Amino acid sequence: MKLTVIGTGYVGAVHAACMAEIGHTVLGVDINPDRVDLLNRAKAPMHEPGLDELLTRTVASGRLRFTTSLAQAARFAGLHFICVGTPQQPDSPAADVRYVDAAVEGMAPDLRPGSLVVGKSTVPVGTAARLAARLRQVAPQAEIAWNPEFLREGSAVRDTLWPERLVVGVSSARAEAVLRDVYAPMLRGGVPFFCTDPSTAELVKVAANSFLATKISFINAMAEVCDAAGADVTTLAQAIGEDSRIGHPFLQPGLGFGGSCFPKDIRAFAARAEELGAGKAVAFLHEVDEINTRQRRRTVDLARALVGGSFADRNVGVLGAAFKPDSDDVRDSPALAVADAVRAEGAEVRVHDPAALDNAQAAFPELKYTSVVPEACDGADLVLHLTPWREYAEIDPALLARVVRRPLLVDARNTLDVQAWQQAGWCVRALGRPGLN
Ligand code: NAD
Repeated sequence: MKLTVIGTGYVGAVHAACMAEIGHTVLGVDINPDRVDLLNRAKAPMHEPGLDELLTRTVASGRLRFTTSLAQAARFAGLHFICVGTPQQPDSPAADVRYVDAAVEGMAPDLRPGSLVVGKSTVPVGTAARLAARLRQVAPQAEIAWNPEFLREGSAVRDTLWPERLVVGVSSARAEAVLRDVYAPMLRGGVPFFCTDPSTAELVKVAANSFLATKISFINAMAEVCDAAGADVTTLAQAIGEDSRIGHPFLQPGLGFGGSCFPKDIRAFAARAEELGAGKAVAFLHEVDEINTRQRRRTVDLARALVGGSFADRNVGVLGAAFKPDSDDVRDSPALAVADAVRAEGAEVRVHDPAALDNAQAAFPELKYTSVVPEACDGADLVLHLTPWREYAEIDPALLARVVRRPLLVDARNTLDVQAWQQAGWCVRALGRPGLN
């Protein structure tokens, strides 16, 4: 099939490449000409495992190219996936859907008769209905559907080619048939396919993210109680996770969630529910958000206490800048929020990250950066482990102990082998584990 992908960020670049990989002919569109230029040269605009290889193959095949022209896109195909950003509004918790609106408006005059415009962006429930009403005025020949995206940065290619489920919200049998066709290889592979109305599809996405965020904040709330009670949250998490009704995933206590999705999605969901008169039903999401933000402050408090009550004249080595491992995304990164708070209190902070240094530098220019772990920790009074990259679990703590001033570690992600670090002479601390010494 011929199709377009509007917006080529973390979601759109991967979606475009994966659609070409499964045999479709794809035109990707972005308003950012540098990004379009990179992609046309088969270079991934972000760190995403497997994406460079996929782009190399699909661009060379002639099935994938990119443009900045929405009008060209509208004329290119009868199927369009909208993957533009939906960030939090600057002055409110609600989602900013202006980029979605601009993409639809930009294409509307040139849409072919019978076109299907499919939203993948995460939007407030009711957005598809609103856009459908708008299209009836400006492009009555076109139809809207919603197909929320569930990929995870760091495994986005795998998640797109082998999704755990596909959810489509449609208003006609024809739209369902088009989407079944486009995803035919996945459906043949047995991927569950949920076909519903657009509002339910929109809600599935924010409900899923709200559930996952709640699970993370639940275990972090338990960490706070463990701190008060002298108990150990990592053992608690393992023990409750064994219950098959609870499960281990997303029960990792620590610094909490960040990134461009969970924080803004739960806020936008609460704001939209409020508008709909259902605010009380999801009022707990405010608490989920508050617990999450508190873990950043608690990590800074723990670090400050460990260096004697003040960061003035202290050197702090930071391991991790990305909001999660295997990504270079630093949007609302808990690691950088902590690193910058420590810097603002007077510490000299050097941050290491395997992939996100450029983005981190642009977002927090006052921090110092290095691509070498021992350099980040050279002369440090304290090391903060803030993003659980696999390579940090492979650090030799005895070697790192030689470069620091004091072998003092906060494992804010609870993924390091505490015993190995202790045996190498480190004093290790973590939230929810007051018994560590
Ligand atoms: P992003 O910011 O990385 O990318 C958005 C892209 O859209 C940018 O390249 C921007 O230049 C482009 N754009 C903006 N307006 C445009 C227009 N009118 N025409 C063409 N291009 C335009 O965003 P993202 O992380 O890829 O997220 C996209 C959407 O998917 C959001 O709604 C997000 O919540 C959702 N989502 C993201 C993830 C994730 O892990 N990043 C996962 C699932 C869903």
